[in-house]
Amino acid sequence: MIDLGALAFAGPGLDRASPLRSDAAALERLAARADARTVLFDSAGVRPLVDQAGDLLWHPPEACGPPGGQMAVFLGLDSGAPRFAATQPIDTESLAEGAVFADLRAIMTRMSPKDAAAAAVGRSLLDWHARHRFCAACGAPTETEDAGWQRRCPACNARHFPRTDPVVIMLVTDGDDVLLGRSPGWPEGMYSLLAGFVEPGETAGDAVRREVREEVGIAVDRVQYLASQPWPFPSSLMLGFQVIALSRDLAPDPVEIEHALWMPRDRLMRVWSGQDADIRPPRRGAIAGILLRNWLAGRLE
Ligand SMILES: [Zn+2]
Repeated sequence: MIDLGALAFAGPGLDRASPLRSDAAALERLAARADARTVLFDSAGVRPLVDQAGDLLWHPPEACGPPGGQMAVFLGLDSGAPRFAATQPIDTESLAEGAVFADLRAIMTRMSPKDAAAAAVGRSLLDWHARHRFCAACGAPTETEDAGWQRRCPACNARHFPRTDPVVIMLVTDGDDVLLGRSPGWPEGMYSLLAGFVEPGETAGDAVRREVREEVGIAVDRVQYLASQPWPFPSSLMLGFQVIALSRDLAPDPVEIEHALWMPRDRLMRVWSGQDADIRPPRRGAIAGILLRNWLAGRLE
């Protein structure tokens, strides 16, 4: 059975308590509670405030502005205690010594599963607010509603919802070989699984088959769903699949794929332990690495 223990952002997360989002009086009571806490992000809503160890710093909400106001969102309940996310503190003097706004990718494997999941929700929502301030229908400035879970246009009454963009990521195997590739511009030696956005009007399975064909020119079959991972950079949902290759001759699309290769299981073992001179494994905590590790361990047969 697949082991998803190290999958970053996959929780267990907060109780989202979504019915509370539209209840302004309840939200006000929640924000006033002594156990309410807010995690702060930079003004772009991208980097959370953490301590030197990389743990989220949770502040009392009164330091961070009203819930449901501009750029403040209700994340949910942690064992009944309210949790919010907001951009930039009102009172920067109250920041703890050593507190820094950190790249979530750099700290995601060090955070507790609950904090990582909360940070993923906060980052996706706040970043969406920062980049969707105007109505897509009429161009007027929009307002935050439902504790940060939607925006409404006061001019034309259109409602706008946070995005989640599905991405398929594929463990393509042929017997004891797995397909790895690297995109132009990646860190030297870094390889991963093929991946791509699902397009409008397309099933996930069709996206898997299309992306593999476009990126390396081979056909695949037996598309099997394995696991998913929220990937808040800015708002992807990674959908992990295993597929069987129907041919082996790779013809990489040079725009998307700088190099692709069939990696035998024994060499992947060496890559994993850092003993391969040319190839480095994918980022820890990301679904590509988790799927590869499960395949190596024989859990996907
Ligand atoms: Zn409008």
